[in-house]
Amino acid sequence: MTSYYFWAICPVKGCADNSPDYWYHYNCPKKDRTKINKDGYLFCASCLNYDKFVNWRFDCGRHNQFLNPNEFRMEDVYSSMSSYSKFANDPLFLLDFNDSVTKQLREKLKKK
Ligand SMILES: [Zn+2]
Ligand SMILES: [Zn+2]
Repeated sequence: MTSYYFWAICPVKGCADNSPDYWYHYNCPKKDRTKINKDGYLFCASCLNYDKFVNWRFDCGRHNQFLNPNEFRMEDVYSSMSSYSKFANDPLFLLDFNDSVTKQLREKLKKK
């Protein structure tokens, strides 16, 4: 399955980050970059830790804690991703990723 390095702004609600960048796996011997696939999974390129995007927690350094992606922030996240050449050249991938993550967020909200 096609995968690309995850390159985006911070997906945490209310975060002021607006500089998209690569995301590194913090709890990892190599602290390697993470990747995403169209099924909405994010995984480490080194240790292969693999989980739904919504189950990962992110810290860009602006909130001093790792927090889950938020439904009110994803529009800006997708928009930031579209300026990365890999995603710009593969809009279907980005749409599929968007769909998959939207489903995950919906399921998560229904469980609350
Ligand atoms: Zn890792
Ligand atoms: Zn942040």
